[in-house]
Amino acid sequence: MSKQIALVTGANKGIGRAAAEQLAVMGMTVLIGSRDPRRGEEAAAALRAAGGDAHAITLDVTDRATVRAAAEQIEAHFGRLDILINNAGITGSGQVSPADATDQIPSTVDLDMVRAVFETNVFGVIAVTNAMLPLLRRSPAPRIVNVSSHAASLTLTSDPDGPFAALLPSAAYTPSKSALSALTVQYANELRKDGILVNAVAPGYVDTDSNNHTGFLTPAQAAAVLVRLATLDADGPTAGFFSEDGPLPW
Ligand code: NDP
Repeated sequence: MSKQIALVTGANKGIGRAAAEQLAVMGMTVLIGSRDPRRGEEAAAALRAAGGDAHAITLDVTDRATVRAAAEQIEAHFGRLDILINNAGITGSGQVSPADATDQIPSTVDLDMVRAVFETNVFGVIAVTNAMLPLLRRSPAPRIVNVSSHAASLTLTSDPDGPFAALLPSAAYTPSKSALSALTVQYANELRKDGILVNAVAPGYVDTDSNNHTGFLTPAQAAAVLVRLATLDADGPTAGFFSEDGPLPW
């Protein structure tokens, strides 16, 4: 197979950037999706300086014009896409961990905040996936990875004795990731016959801006599971949910 082409959304920093670095080290052409062109170019330039084949691509998942333009650019330059990692996400609580986000308590949550979180974490994934699918269909081994969260698991969070019941209730971030899980299964079921493997991953609690650097995993440690699911063999799973330790319950 010729050099693989991978697009990672929200790859200018955090887990997405670490995943892009690892894919580049594997010899792929990596497209650094970033809503800010300057920070996307900085990340791509750093990867190129380290010997990788990286290109910045302006992509705000909530802005249909940039999504469309990104797909057109990828088609014009590369003609296809092999890997899509839907990584871009927001908590909705500024730079506060969902676990500390008292503004997400269901009975008092701001509905506009819920809408904004779903716009990025759910609707943005649909917009990007649908724009990229024609390019993914031209790949001999297309893979889609949706970056979710342990908190998305209804099984884990509804267990009153489990560790996730202790999280503060969240009416925005957590349900958005559960919706992403549901979407993952629906896409996987539609695309199974086309050989497109679609899975969700939970990176763990990671030291990034999204939780004010309170996480204990490094972005590189967390990115490993994204990369593993992005590089599955043809007989690999689809419609699954995985952490680095293995399958997770929905
Ligand atoms: P960061 O805040 O470090 O990175 C988030 C990335 O998403 C940034 O590049 C950000 O861009 C981008 N982004 C946000 N909104 C948009 C948008 N509308 N369009 C395009 N890009 C956007 O967070 P993480 O690296 O921690 O998060 C990456 C993913 O991992 C997210 O989906 C998150 O929910 C998930 N996750 C993270 C966990 C953690 O512990 N950190 C735990 C579980 C899941 P910009 O720089 O412009 O803001």
